[in-house]
Amino acid sequence: MNVKNLVALGALMPIFALSAAPASAAPSTITQKAFGTLKNGQKVTLFTLTNAQGMRAEIMNYGAIIRTLSVRDRNGKFGDVVLGFDTLGQYVKESPYFGTVAGRYANRIAKGRFTLDGKTYKLATNNGVNHLHGGVVGFDKRVWRARPFRTKNGPAIEMRLFSPAGEEGYPGSVNLRVIYTLDNANRLIVNYRAMTDAPTIFNPTQHSYFNLGGQGNGTILYHDLMLNANRFTPIDATSIPTGKLAPVAGTPFDFRRSLPIGARINSGGEQLKNGGGYDHNFVLNGTNGVLKFAARVEEPVSGRVLTVSTTEPGLQLYTGNFLKDLKGKGGKIYPYRGGFALEAQKFPDSPNNPQFPTSVLRPGQVYRQTTIYAFSTR
Ligand code: BGC
Repeated sequence: MNVKNLVALGALMPIFALSAAPASAAPSTITQKAFGTLKNGQKVTLFTLTNAQGMRAEIMNYGAIIRTLSVRDRNGKFGDVVLGFDTLGQYVKESPYFGTVAGRYANRIAKGRFTLDGKTYKLATNNGVNHLHGGVVGFDKRVWRARPFRTKNGPAIEMRLFSPAGEEGYPGSVNLRVIYTLDNANRLIVNYRAMTDAPTIFNPTQHSYFNLGGQGNGTILYHDLMLNANRFTPIDATSIPTGKLAPVAGTPFDFRRSLPIGARINSGGEQLKNGGGYDHNFVLNGTNGVLKFAARVEEPVSGRVLTVSTTEPGLQLYTGNFLKDLKGKGGKIYPYRGGFALEAQKFPDSPNNPQFPTSVLRPGQVYRQTTIYAFSTR
C-alpha cells in the first residue's frame, strides 16, 4: 500500500472512531507532511506513525530523526516523551543529536585516529581533539530516503542512506538501512542492516533523549533506572575510555537494582567529574549479537516505563549534562539534565582498543543491530 492510500486511511479514522470499536481496535495509520527545506534545496518530510493503541511517532528523513513519541501514562493520558525542536532550522543549527541516528561511528574515537589492516585513517575531529558521532556532517545531518509501509504488527518506515568512501575520513562506502516499526504492543523496534565495499568501522546508534514525565517537564534525575550491566568503561578527562572494564559494584555506576538517576550523580569522584555526570558506556551482561534486556526506566509520577533491549554489547547512559535551558518543542525549555539517552552501541573508541568487541565491517559481511524501546505503565 502506498503513502497516498495510507493517508486516505488516516482520513477515514474519525468514521471508525464513531463506531463502537474499542480504542485498541483502531487501525494504525501513516501520514506525512513537509517539514522544511534545507539551504541546498533538499526537502524534509515528517512522517507520523500511529499504532492501534494510539501511540504516535513522528519521524523525519533528515537524520532519521525521531521527533515525537506520544505515549500514554497510567491514566491513559498521552504525553510526548522525547526532546526535539519545532522547526527544521533548529535541528540544523543546534546539534545535541536529538532523536537522530548517529554514525558512521557513534560516540567518540580518540583524536579521530585509528589503524585498520595496517593503514592509519584520520577522521574529522569535532569534539575537542576527538571524533564524535560520525564527524562534522554525520548521519544525523544527512537526508535519508524514506519509505513508509505497514506490517501486520503496526506501521513502519524504512530509511536508507549511502555513505561514500572518504566521508568524514572513513574508508569504504556503506549502504545502511534502518527500519523503525511502531508495533501495536507500544514498542519502537529499530532494525539496522548495512554492508560495505571495503574494510571500515561501523557503529550506528539511536540518539533519542527521553523525559518520561513529558518533554520539557523538568529534569530526569528522579526517574528510576535499572541497567543490566556488571561493568562499565571508565573514561579520561576527554571522555575516551581508559581501556579497562571496571566493576560497577560499590560505585555510583551500580544500577543493577533500580535507583533514581540523580541519587548519586553529584557524589563526586573522578569518573562523574570526567563525564560531567553520567556519560559512560555500560558493558551489558549477556551475549554480543543476541537480543537481551539492557535497561528499564520508570517515571514515578506518570507511571510510564521504558524498557530497552538490544543486540549490542554496550549502552551509553548520557544524562543531558550539556543541556542548558535549550528551547524545544512547543517553546518548552530543556534544563540541564532535562533528558537522558540510552545509546545501544559498540564501546566508544573500540577501533583503538582491540580488547573491546570489534566494530570492523568487511565486504561480504552484513552488519545487523536490533534495539527495542518498549513502553508500558505501572
Ligand atoms: C555523548 C555526549 C555528547 C552528546 C551529544 C552523547 O552520546 O555521550 O558526550 O555530548 O552525545 O549531544
